[in-house]
Amino acid sequence: MWARGMIVQGNHDSKRDGTMTKTVIVGGGISGLATAFTLQECGRTDYTLIEGSPRWGGKITSVHENGFTIEGGPDSFITQKTAAIELCKRLGLEDQLSGSNSGKNAATYIWSGGRLHRMPEGMMLMAPTMVLPFLRSRLISWPGKMRAGLEVFIPRARGDGDESLAGFVRRRLGNELLDKIAGPLMGGIYAADPERMSLKSTFPMFLEMEKKHGSLLRGMMKRAKRPVKPEAEPRAAHGAKRPSMFMSLRGGLQQLSDALVARLPGTNLRTGCRALAVSHYAERYRIDLSDGSCLLADDVVFATPSFVTADLVEQLDPALAERLRSIRYVSTATVSLGFRRSEVAHPLQGAGFIVPPSEGRRITACSWSSAKFNHRAPEDCVLLRVFIGGALAEDLAEQDEAALVQLAREELQVILGIAATPVLARAYRWSKANPQYDLGHEERVAEIERSLANLPGLHLAGAAYHGPGIPDCIQSGIKVAEAIAARHVRGESSCRSDASSVCIES
Ligand SMILES: Cc1cc2nc3c(=O)[nH]c(=O)nc-3n(C[C@H](O)[C@H](O)[C@H](O)COP(=O)(O)OP(=O)(O)OC[C@H]3O[C@@H](n4cnc5c(N)ncnc54)[C@H](O)[C@@H]3O)c2cc1C
Repeated sequence: MWARGMIVQGNHDSKRDGTMTKTVIVGGGISGLATAFTLQECGRTDYTLIEGSPRWGGKITSVHENGFTIEGGPDSFITQKTAAIELCKRLGLEDQLSGSNSGKNAATYIWSGGRLHRMPEGMMLMAPTMVLPFLRSRLISWPGKMRAGLEVFIPRARGDGDESLAGFVRRRLGNELLDKIAGPLMGGIYAADPERMSLKSTFPMFLEMEKKHGSLLRGMMKRAKRPVKPEAEPRAAHGAKRPSMFMSLRGGLQQLSDALVARLPGTNLRTGCRALAVSHYAERYRIDLSDGSCLLADDVVFATPSFVTADLVEQLDPALAERLRSIRYVSTATVSLGFRRSEVAHPLQGAGFIVPPSEGRRITACSWSSAKFNHRAPEDCVLLRVFIGGALAEDLAEQDEAALVQLAREELQVILGIAATPVLARAYRWSKANPQYDLGHEERVAEIERSLANLPGLHLAGAAYHGPGIPDCIQSGIKVAEAIAARHVRGESSCRSDASSVCIES
Protein backbone atom coordinates (compact mmCIF):
# COMPACT_ATOMS: atom_id res chain seq x y z
CA MET A 1 0.00 0.00 0.00
CA TRP A 2 1.10 3.56 -0.63
CA ALA A 3 1.77 5.64 2.43
CA ARG A 4 0.71 9.23 1.88
CA GLY A 5 3.57 11.62 1.27
CA MET A 6 6.15 8.83 1.21
CA ILE A 7 9.04 8.98 -1.24
CA VAL A 8 9.00 5.63 -2.96
CA GLN A 9 11.89 3.22 -3.42
CA GLY A 10 14.61 2.85 -0.87
CA ASN A 11 17.98 4.37 -1.55
CA HIS A 12 16.31 7.04 -3.60
CA ASP A 13 17.28 10.44 -4.79
CA SER A 14 14.30 12.55 -3.70
CA LYS A 15 14.88 14.99 -6.58
CA ARG A 16 14.24 12.22 -9.08
CA ASP A 17 11.84 9.83 -7.43
CA GLY A 18 8.10 10.44 -7.49
CA THR A 19 6.04 10.73 -4.33
CA MET A 20 2.66 9.06 -4.65
CA THR A 21 -0.37 10.88 -3.40
CA LYS A 22 -3.89 10.24 -4.62
CA THR A 23 -4.77 13.88 -5.19
CA VAL A 24 -2.57 16.89 -5.78
CA ILE A 25 -4.17 20.29 -5.32
CA VAL A 26 -2.19 23.11 -6.88
CA GLY A 27 -2.81 26.55 -5.33
CA GLY A 28 -3.39 27.36 -1.67
CA GLY A 29 -5.85 30.21 -2.04
CA ILE A 30 -9.39 29.86 -0.74
CA SER A 31 -10.35 27.54 -3.63
CA GLY A 32 -7.51 25.08 -3.00
CA LEU A 33 -7.98 25.22 0.76
CA ALA A 34 -11.72 24.57 0.44
CA THR A 35 -10.96 21.63 -1.86
CA ALA A 36 -8.52 20.12 0.63
CA PHE A 37 -10.82 20.64 3.59
CA THR A 38 -13.79 19.08 1.79
CA LEU A 39 -11.73 16.12 0.61
CA GLN A 40 -10.77 15.56 4.20
CA GLU A 41 -14.35 15.87 5.38
CA CYS A 42 -15.20 13.20 2.79
CA GLY A 43 -12.61 10.94 4.39
CA ARG A 44 -10.01 11.37 1.62
CA THR A 45 -6.89 12.28 3.52
CA ASP A 46 -4.50 11.17 0.78
CA TYR A 47 -3.90 14.52 -0.88
CA THR A 48 -1.06 17.04 -1.10
CA LEU A 49 -1.74 20.75 -1.33
CA ILE A 50 0.98 22.71 -3.10
CA GLU A 51 1.34 26.48 -2.74
CA GLY A 52 3.92 28.40 -4.72
CA SER A 53 4.30 31.36 -2.37
CA PRO A 54 5.47 31.19 1.24
CA ARG A 55 1.96 31.90 2.61
CA TRP A 56 -1.52 30.37 2.41
CA GLY A 57 -4.70 32.20 1.46
CA GLY A 58 -3.81 33.58 -1.98
CA LYS A 59 -5.65 36.87 -2.41
CA ILE A 60 -7.00 36.73 1.12
CA THR A 61 -4.58 38.73 3.23
CA SER A 62 -5.42 40.55 6.46
CA VAL A 63 -2.93 42.55 8.48
CA HIS A 64 -3.24 43.96 12.01
CA GLU A 65 -1.34 47.14 12.69
CA ASN A 66 -1.73 49.69 15.49
CA GLY A 67 -5.32 48.66 16.17
CA PHE A 68 -6.32 48.64 12.48
CA THR A 69 -7.40 45.52 10.59
CA ILE A 70 -6.37 45.96 6.98
CA GLU A 71 -7.60 43.80 4.14
CA GLY A 72 -5.23 43.72 1.20
CA GLY A 73 -7.55 41.72 -1.08
CA PRO A 74 -11.16 40.75 -0.41
CA ASP A 75 -12.76 42.31 2.66
CA SER A 76 -16.10 40.48 2.83
CA PHE A 77 -18.34 37.98 1.09
CA ILE A 78 -21.91 38.10 -0.08
CA THR A 79 -24.28 36.03 2.06
CA GLN A 80 -26.89 35.37 -0.62
CA LYS A 81 -24.57 32.63 -1.85
CA THR A 82 -24.23 30.53 1.27
CA ALA A 83 -20.99 28.56 0.76
CA ALA A 84 -18.73 30.98 2.68
CA ILE A 85 -20.98 31.45 5.67
CA GLU A 86 -21.55 27.69 5.89
CA LEU A 87 -17.83 27.01 5.72
CA CYS A 88 -17.21 29.52 8.52
CA LYS A 89 -19.78 27.67 10.61
CA ARG A 90 -18.20 24.28 9.86
CA LEU A 91 -14.88 25.71 11.02
CA GLY A 92 -16.32 26.98 14.29
CA LEU A 93 -15.98 30.62 13.26
CA GLU A 94 -19.66 31.48 13.71
CA ASP A 95 -18.99 33.79 16.66
CA GLN A 96 -16.38 35.63 14.59
CA LEU A 97 -18.77 36.50 11.76
CA SER A 98 -19.39 40.18 11.48
CA GLY A 99 -22.11 41.59 9.24
CA SER A 100 -21.75 44.81 7.30
CA ASN A 101 -23.43 47.65 9.15
CA SER A 102 -26.94 48.60 8.16
CA GLY A 103 -28.97 51.82 8.07
CA LYS A 104 -27.01 54.95 7.31
CA ASN A 105 -23.78 53.01 7.35
CA ALA A 106 -24.93 50.86 4.41
CA ALA A 107 -25.49 53.75 2.00
CA THR A 108 -23.42 53.90 -1.17
CA TYR A 109 -22.47 57.24 -2.71
CA ILE A 110 -21.60 58.16 -6.25
CA TRP A 111 -19.15 60.87 -7.23
CA SER A 112 -20.77 62.91 -9.97
CA GLY A 113 -20.45 66.51 -11.08
CA GLY A 114 -18.05 67.43 -8.29
CA ARG A 115 -20.04 66.03 -5.34
CA LEU A 116 -21.10 62.81 -3.68
CA HIS A 117 -24.71 61.77 -4.26
CA ARG A 118 -26.41 59.14 -2.17
CA MET A 119 -27.54 56.18 -4.26
CA PRO A 120 -31.33 56.52 -4.55
CA GLU A 121 -33.03 54.25 -2.02
CA GLY A 122 -34.43 51.09 -3.59
CA MET A 123 -31.84 50.81 -6.41
CA MET A 124 -31.24 47.17 -7.14
CA LEU A 125 -27.82 47.35 -8.81
CA MET A 126 -28.97 48.79 -12.14
CA ALA A 127 -32.69 49.34 -11.72
CA PRO A 128 -34.79 51.51 -9.44
CA THR A 129 -37.43 49.63 -7.45
CA MET A 130 -38.84 52.70 -5.67
CA VAL A 131 -40.20 55.56 -7.69
CA LEU A 132 -40.05 58.54 -5.33
CA PRO A 133 -36.45 58.28 -4.12
CA PHE A 134 -35.36 57.82 -7.73
CA LEU A 135 -37.31 60.86 -8.91
CA ARG A 136 -36.02 62.99 -6.01
CA SER A 137 -32.36 62.09 -6.53
CA ARG A 138 -30.21 64.79 -8.13
CA LEU A 139 -27.78 62.18 -9.40
CA ILE A 140 -29.75 61.44 -12.59
CA SER A 141 -30.97 64.27 -14.85
CA TRP A 142 -34.67 64.56 -15.73
CA PRO A 143 -34.09 63.28 -19.29
CA GLY A 144 -32.14 60.37 -17.73
CA LYS A 145 -35.01 59.60 -15.36
CA MET A 146 -37.54 59.76 -18.17
CA ARG A 147 -35.44 57.45 -20.32
CA ALA A 148 -35.19 54.96 -17.44
CA GLY A 149 -38.98 55.14 -16.98
CA LEU A 150 -39.50 54.21 -20.63
CA GLU A 151 -37.97 50.84 -19.77
CA VAL A 152 -41.44 49.35 -19.33
CA PHE A 153 -42.11 49.95 -23.04
CA ILE A 154 -38.85 48.51 -24.38
CA PRO A 155 -39.52 45.13 -25.99
CA ARG A 156 -37.70 42.00 -24.87
CA ALA A 157 -34.49 41.12 -26.68
CA ARG A 158 -34.89 38.40 -29.27
CA GLY A 159 -32.87 35.24 -28.86
CA ASP A 160 -30.56 34.00 -26.15
CA GLY A 161 -27.31 35.56 -27.37
CA ASP A 162 -24.81 36.98 -24.91
CA GLU A 163 -25.05 40.71 -24.34
CA SER A 164 -22.64 43.06 -22.60
CA LEU A 165 -23.60 44.80 -19.37
CA ALA A 166 -23.29 48.11 -21.22
CA GLY A 167 -25.40 46.97 -24.18
CA PHE A 168 -28.16 45.68 -21.94
CA VAL A 169 -28.37 48.70 -19.61
CA ARG A 170 -28.14 51.17 -22.49
CA ARG A 171 -30.91 49.35 -24.35
CA ARG A 172 -33.25 49.03 -21.39
CA LEU A 173 -32.54 51.96 -19.08
CA GLY A 174 -30.47 54.43 -21.09
CA ASN A 175 -26.96 55.80 -21.14
CA GLU A 176 -27.11 57.84 -17.98
CA LEU A 177 -27.96 54.89 -15.69
CA LEU A 178 -25.21 52.94 -17.36
CA ASP A 179 -22.67 55.70 -16.94
CA LYS A 180 -23.49 56.76 -13.37
CA ILE A 181 -24.73 53.61 -11.67
CA ALA A 182 -24.67 50.25 -13.44
CA GLY A 183 -21.25 50.63 -15.09
CA PRO A 184 -19.22 51.70 -12.05
CA LEU A 185 -21.18 49.56 -9.59
CA MET A 186 -21.64 46.28 -11.46
CA GLY A 187 -18.59 46.60 -13.70
CA GLY A 188 -16.63 47.63 -10.58
CA ILE A 189 -17.41 44.36 -8.80
CA TYR A 190 -15.59 42.54 -11.61
CA ALA A 191 -13.02 45.33 -12.21
CA ALA A 192 -14.39 45.07 -15.74
CA ASP A 193 -15.14 47.15 -18.80
CA PRO A 194 -18.97 47.12 -19.03
CA GLU A 195 -18.72 47.11 -22.84
CA ARG A 196 -16.96 43.71 -22.74
CA MET A 197 -18.50 42.15 -19.65
CA SER A 198 -20.98 39.32 -20.25
CA LEU A 199 -24.24 39.92 -18.43
CA LYS A 200 -25.20 36.25 -18.78
CA SER A 201 -22.09 35.15 -16.87
CA THR A 202 -22.22 37.83 -14.20
CA PHE A 203 -25.76 38.99 -13.44
CA PRO A 204 -28.03 36.52 -15.26
CA MET A 205 -31.00 37.44 -13.05
CA PHE A 206 -31.54 40.61 -15.09
CA LEU A 207 -31.78 38.65 -18.32
CA GLU A 208 -34.20 36.24 -16.67
CA MET A 209 -36.27 39.13 -15.39
CA GLU A 210 -36.46 40.65 -18.87
CA LYS A 211 -37.44 37.31 -20.33
CA LYS A 212 -40.09 36.60 -17.71
CA HIS A 213 -41.66 40.03 -17.21
CA GLY A 214 -40.71 41.84 -20.39
CA SER A 215 -39.38 44.68 -18.23
CA LEU A 216 -36.99 45.01 -15.27
CA LEU A 217 -39.11 47.66 -13.60
CA ARG A 218 -42.25 45.53 -13.84
CA GLY A 219 -40.31 42.50 -12.59
CA MET A 220 -38.88 44.42 -9.64
CA MET A 221 -42.28 45.82 -8.65
CA LYS A 222 -43.79 42.34 -8.71
CA ARG A 223 -40.93 41.02 -6.66
CA ALA A 224 -41.29 43.78 -4.10
CA LYS A 225 -45.01 43.00 -3.68
CA ARG A 226 -44.51 39.22 -3.47
CA PRO A 227 -45.00 37.76 0.03
CA VAL A 228 -41.80 36.19 1.34
CA LYS A 229 -42.00 32.40 1.04
CA PRO A 230 -40.71 30.75 4.21
CA GLU A 231 -38.72 28.14 2.28
CA ALA A 232 -37.06 30.86 0.20
CA GLU A 233 -35.89 32.78 3.27
CA PRO A 234 -35.11 30.07 5.81
CA ARG A 235 -33.20 32.22 8.23
CA ALA A 236 -35.81 34.93 8.31
CA ALA A 237 -38.69 32.50 8.63
CA HIS A 238 -38.12 31.39 12.21
CA GLY A 239 -37.86 34.83 13.63
CA ALA A 240 -34.06 34.80 13.46
CA LYS A 241 -32.28 37.87 12.22
CA ARG A 242 -31.64 37.76 8.47
CA PRO A 243 -27.88 37.92 7.84
CA SER A 244 -26.42 41.13 6.46
CA MET A 245 -25.85 41.27 2.74
CA PHE A 246 -22.09 41.13 3.31
CA MET A 247 -20.17 39.36 6.02
CA SER A 248 -16.61 39.42 7.18
CA LEU A 249 -14.77 38.05 10.17
CA ARG A 250 -13.88 40.18 13.18
CA GLY A 251 -10.18 39.61 12.73
CA GLY A 252 -10.31 39.92 8.94
CA LEU A 253 -11.01 37.37 6.22
CA GLN A 254 -7.66 35.72 6.73
CA GLN A 255 -9.19 34.13 9.81
CA LEU A 256 -11.01 31.91 7.34
CA SER A 257 -7.93 30.77 5.42
CA ASP A 258 -5.96 30.43 8.68
CA ALA A 259 -8.72 28.27 10.19
CA LEU A 260 -8.70 26.05 7.12
CA VAL A 261 -4.93 25.60 7.24
CA ALA A 262 -5.16 24.79 10.96
CA ARG A 263 -7.57 21.95 10.18
CA LEU A 264 -5.33 20.35 7.53
CA PRO A 265 -2.48 18.06 8.62
CA GLY A 266 0.90 19.71 8.09
CA THR A 267 2.18 16.59 6.33
CA ASN A 268 -0.30 17.21 3.49
CA LEU A 269 0.82 20.80 2.93
CA ARG A 270 3.75 22.29 1.03
CA THR A 271 4.34 26.02 0.74
CA GLY A 272 7.08 27.80 -1.18
CA CYS A 273 6.94 25.11 -3.84
CA ARG A 274 5.53 25.81 -7.31
CA ALA A 275 4.07 23.28 -9.69
CA LEU A 276 5.94 23.61 -12.99
CA ALA A 277 4.25 21.13 -15.31
CA VAL A 278 1.85 18.22 -15.37
CA SER A 279 2.34 15.26 -17.68
CA HIS A 280 1.14 11.70 -18.13
CA TYR A 281 3.11 9.07 -16.30
CA ALA A 282 1.90 5.53 -16.86
CA GLU A 283 -1.75 5.69 -15.79
CA ARG A 284 -1.23 8.66 -13.52
CA TYR A 285 -0.29 12.29 -13.67
CA ARG A 286 3.16 13.48 -12.80
CA ILE A 287 3.49 16.95 -11.29
CA ASP A 288 6.96 18.50 -11.51
CA LEU A 289 7.75 20.90 -8.71
CA SER A 290 10.09 23.87 -8.39
CA ASP A 291 12.23 22.16 -5.73
CA GLY A 292 13.22 19.54 -8.31
CA SER A 293 10.97 16.78 -6.94
CA CYS A 294 7.79 15.45 -8.45
CA LEU A 295 4.53 13.91 -7.34
CA LEU A 296 2.38 11.22 -8.91
CA ALA A 297 -1.35 11.42 -8.55
CA ASP A 298 -4.63 10.06 -9.86
CA ASP A 299 -6.34 13.42 -9.54
CA VAL A 300 -4.94 16.91 -9.98
CA VAL A 301 -6.95 19.97 -8.96
CA PHE A 302 -5.82 23.25 -10.49
CA ALA A 303 -6.89 25.97 -8.05
CA THR A 304 -4.64 28.47 -9.77
CA PRO A 305 -5.41 31.44 -12.04
CA SER A 306 -6.39 30.06 -15.47
CA PHE A 307 -3.25 31.43 -17.18
CA VAL A 308 -1.11 29.52 -14.66
CA THR A 309 -3.19 26.38 -15.24
CA ALA A 310 -2.65 26.88 -18.98
CA ASP A 311 1.14 26.67 -18.55
CA LEU A 312 0.77 23.61 -16.33
CA VAL A 313 -1.35 21.62 -18.82
CA GLU A 314 0.53 22.75 -21.94
CA GLN A 315 2.24 19.36 -22.41
CA LEU A 316 -0.98 17.43 -21.88
CA ASP A 317 -3.23 19.40 -24.20
CA PRO A 318 -1.97 22.56 -25.94
CA ALA A 319 -5.48 23.38 -27.21
CA LEU A 320 -6.85 23.30 -23.67
CA ALA A 321 -3.97 25.54 -22.60
CA GLU A 322 -4.88 28.00 -25.34
CA ARG A 323 -8.52 28.08 -24.22
CA LEU A 324 -7.49 28.66 -20.61
CA ARG A 325 -5.31 31.56 -21.75
CA SER A 326 -8.26 33.14 -23.51
CA ILE A 327 -9.71 34.16 -20.12
CA ARG A 328 -8.25 37.63 -19.65
CA TYR A 329 -7.09 39.02 -16.31
CA VAL A 330 -6.66 42.65 -15.32
CA SER A 331 -4.65 44.34 -12.58
CA THR A 332 -6.01 46.28 -9.62
CA ALA A 333 -4.61 47.84 -6.46
CA THR A 334 -6.00 48.70 -3.04
CA VAL A 335 -4.71 51.40 -0.73
CA SER A 336 -5.78 51.41 2.93
CA LEU A 337 -5.44 54.72 4.73
CA GLY A 338 -6.08 55.29 8.43
CA PHE A 339 -6.77 58.80 9.74
CA ARG A 340 -7.48 60.31 13.12
CA ARG A 341 -11.26 60.79 13.29
CA SER A 342 -10.75 64.39 14.47
CA GLU A 343 -8.85 65.19 11.26
CA VAL A 344 -11.62 64.05 8.91
CA ALA A 345 -14.49 66.51 8.60
CA HIS A 346 -16.62 64.23 6.42
CA PRO A 347 -19.13 62.17 8.49
CA LEU A 348 -18.28 58.98 6.53
CA GLN A 349 -21.74 57.54 7.19
CA GLY A 350 -22.05 54.83 4.62
CA ALA A 351 -20.32 51.92 2.97
CA GLY A 352 -18.32 54.20 0.65
CA PHE A 353 -18.49 55.62 -2.84
CA ILE A 354 -17.97 54.66 -6.46
CA VAL A 355 -16.56 56.85 -9.21
CA PRO A 356 -17.92 56.67 -12.78
CA PRO A 357 -15.06 56.57 -15.32
CA SER A 358 -16.61 59.57 -17.11
CA GLU A 359 -15.67 61.71 -14.06
CA GLY A 360 -12.03 61.43 -15.12
CA ARG A 361 -10.68 60.65 -11.66
CA ARG A 362 -7.89 58.14 -10.92
CA ILE A 363 -9.71 55.90 -8.44
CA THR A 364 -12.68 53.64 -9.06
CA ALA A 365 -14.14 53.37 -5.56
CA CYS A 366 -13.51 53.82 -1.86
CA SER A 367 -14.85 51.70 0.99
CA TRP A 368 -15.35 53.42 4.32
CA SER A 369 -14.09 50.25 5.96
CA SER A 370 -14.49 51.35 9.58
CA ALA A 371 -18.10 52.43 8.96
CA LYS A 372 -18.95 49.38 6.86
CA PHE A 373 -17.64 46.92 9.48
CA ASN A 374 -16.95 47.10 13.20
CA HIS A 375 -13.50 46.17 14.53
CA ARG A 376 -11.57 47.74 11.67
CA ALA A 377 -10.01 50.80 13.32
CA PRO A 378 -9.27 52.13 16.82
CA GLU A 379 -12.15 54.17 18.35
CA ASP A 380 -10.54 57.52 17.57
CA CYS A 381 -9.61 56.65 13.97
CA VAL A 382 -11.23 55.83 10.63
CA LEU A 383 -10.07 53.41 7.95
CA LEU A 384 -10.67 53.98 4.23
CA ARG A 385 -9.84 51.62 1.38
CA VAL A 386 -9.31 53.02 -2.10
CA PHE A 387 -9.55 50.95 -5.30
CA ILE A 388 -7.34 51.73 -8.29
CA GLY A 389 -7.04 50.20 -11.75
CA GLY A 390 -9.23 47.53 -13.29
CA ALA A 391 -9.99 47.05 -16.98
CA LEU A 392 -10.36 50.75 -17.75
CA ALA A 393 -7.24 52.02 -15.97
CA GLU A 394 -4.89 49.09 -15.52
CA ASP A 395 -1.72 51.15 -15.86
CA LEU A 396 -2.61 53.13 -12.71
CA ALA A 397 -2.57 49.91 -10.65
CA GLU A 398 0.91 49.02 -11.81
CA GLN A 399 2.70 51.92 -10.09
CA ASP A 400 4.87 51.31 -7.03
CA GLU A 401 3.34 51.35 -3.54
CA ALA A 402 4.49 54.86 -2.65
CA ALA A 403 2.95 56.27 -5.83
CA LEU A 404 -0.30 54.40 -5.15
CA VAL A 405 -0.53 55.86 -1.64
CA GLN A 406 0.19 59.35 -2.97
CA LEU A 407 -2.46 58.98 -5.68
CA ALA A 408 -5.05 57.75 -3.17
CA ARG A 409 -4.34 60.64 -0.82
CA GLU A 410 -4.65 63.21 -3.60
CA GLU A 411 -7.97 61.76 -4.73
CA LEU A 412 -9.38 61.63 -1.19
CA GLN A 413 -8.39 65.24 -0.70
CA VAL A 414 -10.49 66.23 -3.72
CA ILE A 415 -13.46 63.95 -3.02
CA LEU A 416 -13.67 63.89 0.79
CA GLY A 417 -11.59 66.96 1.61
CA ILE A 418 -9.10 64.94 3.69
CA ALA A 419 -5.80 66.82 3.80
CA ALA A 420 -4.45 65.17 6.96
CA THR A 421 -1.42 62.92 7.01
CA PRO A 422 -2.59 59.32 7.44
CA VAL A 423 -1.56 57.50 10.61
CA LEU A 424 -1.44 54.33 8.52
CA ALA A 425 -0.92 53.73 4.80
CA ARG A 426 -0.65 50.39 3.03
CA ALA A 427 -0.85 49.63 -0.67
CA TYR A 428 -1.38 46.23 -2.30
CA ARG A 429 -0.76 45.65 -5.98
CA TRP A 430 -2.76 42.87 -7.58
CA SER A 431 -1.15 42.16 -10.90
CA LYS A 432 -3.38 40.23 -13.32
CA ALA A 433 -5.57 39.21 -10.40
CA ASN A 434 -9.11 39.77 -11.64
CA PRO A 435 -10.47 37.32 -14.23
CA GLN A 436 -12.66 38.99 -16.82
CA TYR A 437 -16.03 37.45 -17.60
CA ASP A 438 -15.99 38.78 -21.14
CA LEU A 439 -18.73 38.26 -23.73
CA GLY A 440 -18.77 34.55 -24.63
CA HIS A 441 -17.43 33.53 -21.20
CA GLU A 442 -20.02 30.82 -20.70
CA GLU A 443 -19.16 29.16 -24.01
CA ARG A 444 -15.43 29.56 -23.36
CA VAL A 445 -15.77 27.76 -20.01
CA ALA A 446 -18.00 25.07 -21.56
CA GLU A 447 -15.28 24.40 -24.17
CA ILE A 448 -12.63 24.18 -21.46
CA GLU A 449 -14.77 21.72 -19.55
CA ARG A 450 -15.37 19.63 -22.67
CA SER A 451 -11.61 19.43 -23.26
CA LEU A 452 -11.05 18.49 -19.66
CA ALA A 453 -13.48 15.58 -19.96
CA ASN A 454 -10.83 13.93 -22.17
CA LEU A 455 -8.34 14.09 -19.32
CA PRO A 456 -10.03 12.16 -16.49
CA GLY A 457 -8.65 13.08 -13.10
CA LEU A 458 -7.93 16.72 -13.96
CA HIS A 459 -10.17 19.31 -12.28
CA LEU A 460 -10.51 23.08 -12.18
CA ALA A 461 -11.46 25.25 -9.23
CA GLY A 462 -11.22 28.96 -8.65
CA ALA A 463 -12.25 32.40 -9.68
CA ALA A 464 -11.92 32.14 -13.45
CA TYR A 465 -14.89 29.96 -14.33
CA HIS A 466 -18.19 30.09 -12.43
CA GLY A 467 -17.84 33.24 -10.33
CA PRO A 468 -14.91 35.09 -8.75
CA GLY A 469 -16.42 35.83 -5.32
CA ILE A 470 -15.24 34.02 -2.20
CA PRO A 471 -18.47 31.92 -1.97
CA ASP A 472 -18.10 30.96 -5.66
CA CYS A 473 -14.49 29.91 -5.13
CA ILE A 474 -15.38 27.87 -2.04
CA GLN A 475 -18.26 26.24 -3.91
CA SER A 476 -15.95 25.36 -6.81
CA GLY A 477 -13.56 23.63 -4.40
CA ILE A 478 -16.37 21.76 -2.66
CA LYS A 479 -17.77 20.57 -5.99
CA VAL A 480 -14.42 19.27 -7.19
CA ALA A 481 -13.61 17.56 -3.88
CA GLU A 482 -16.99 15.85 -3.81
CA ALA A 483 -16.54 14.67 -7.40
CA ILE A 484 -13.13 13.20 -6.54
CA ALA A 485 -14.45 11.50 -3.42
CA ALA A 486 -17.39 10.07 -5.38
CA ARG A 487 -15.08 8.84 -8.15
CA HIS A 488 -12.96 6.96 -5.66
CA VAL A 489 -16.00 5.48 -3.93
CA ARG A 490 -17.20 4.24 -7.34
CA GLY A 491 -13.73 2.78 -7.88
CA GLU A 492 -13.16 4.73 -11.08
CA SER A 493 -9.70 5.72 -10.00
CA SER A 494 -6.84 4.46 -12.12
CA CYS A 495 -4.83 4.12 -8.94
CA ARG A 496 -2.76 0.97 -8.63
CA SER A 497 -1.59 -0.34 -5.31
CA ASP A 498 1.79 -1.88 -6.29
CA ALA A 499 4.54 0.28 -4.92
CA SER A 500 7.08 -0.85 -7.44
CA SER A 501 5.41 0.95 -10.31
CA VAL A 502 5.86 4.59 -9.48
CA CYS A 503 9.53 5.29 -9.19
CA ILE A 504 10.38 7.96 -11.71
CA GLU A 505 13.71 8.59 -13.31
CA SER A 506 13.59 12.11 -14.65
C1 LIG B 1 -8.32 43.49 -4.70
C2 LIG B 1 -9.35 42.40 -4.68
C3 LIG B 1 -10.48 42.55 -3.89
C4 LIG B 1 -11.45 41.54 -3.87
N1 LIG B 1 -12.53 41.70 -3.07
C5 LIG B 1 -13.41 40.68 -2.94
C6 LIG B 1 -14.44 40.77 -1.95
O1 LIG B 1 -14.54 41.73 -1.18
N2 LIG B 1 -15.30 39.72 -1.86
C7 LIG B 1 -15.19 38.60 -2.65
O2 LIG B 1 -16.02 37.70 -2.52
N3 LIG B 1 -14.19 38.49 -3.58
C8 LIG B 1 -13.31 39.49 -3.72
N4 LIG B 1 -12.27 39.38 -4.60
C9 LIG B 1 -12.14 38.14 -5.39
C10 LIG B 1 -11.55 36.99 -4.54
O3 LIG B 1 -10.68 37.49 -3.58
C11 LIG B 1 -10.79 36.01 -5.41
O4 LIG B 1 -11.52 35.65 -6.55
C12 LIG B 1 -10.45 34.73 -4.62
O5 LIG B 1 -9.79 35.05 -3.42
C13 LIG B 1 -9.61 33.83 -5.49
O6 LIG B 1 -9.28 32.68 -4.77
P1 LIG B 1 -8.52 31.46 -5.48
O7 LIG B 1 -8.16 30.49 -4.43
O8 LIG B 1 -9.34 30.95 -6.61
O9 LIG B 1 -7.24 32.12 -6.14
P2 LIG B 1 -5.99 32.79 -5.44
O10 LIG B 1 -6.35 33.45 -4.18
O11 LIG B 1 -5.35 33.59 -6.52
O12 LIG B 1 -5.06 31.55 -5.07
C14 LIG B 1 -4.30 30.89 -6.04
C15 LIG B 1 -3.06 30.41 -5.35
O13 LIG B 1 -2.27 29.65 -6.28
C16 LIG B 1 -0.92 29.91 -6.02
N5 LIG B 1 -0.16 29.53 -7.22
C17 LIG B 1 -0.08 30.19 -8.40
N6 LIG B 1 0.70 29.51 -9.26
C18 LIG B 1 1.10 28.39 -8.62
C19 LIG B 1 1.93 27.28 -9.00
N7 LIG B 1 2.48 27.18 -10.22
N8 LIG B 1 2.15 26.30 -8.07
C20 LIG B 1 1.59 26.36 -6.83
N9 LIG B 1 0.81 27.41 -6.44
C21 LIG B 1 0.57 28.40 -7.32
C22 LIG B 1 -0.88 31.38 -5.71
O14 LIG B 1 0.30 31.74 -5.02
C23 LIG B 1 -2.15 31.55 -4.88
O15 LIG B 1 -1.90 31.42 -3.51
C24 LIG B 1 -11.28 40.37 -4.66
C25 LIG B 1 -10.15 40.23 -5.47
C26 LIG B 1 -9.18 41.22 -5.47
C27 LIG B 1 -7.95 41.05 -6.32
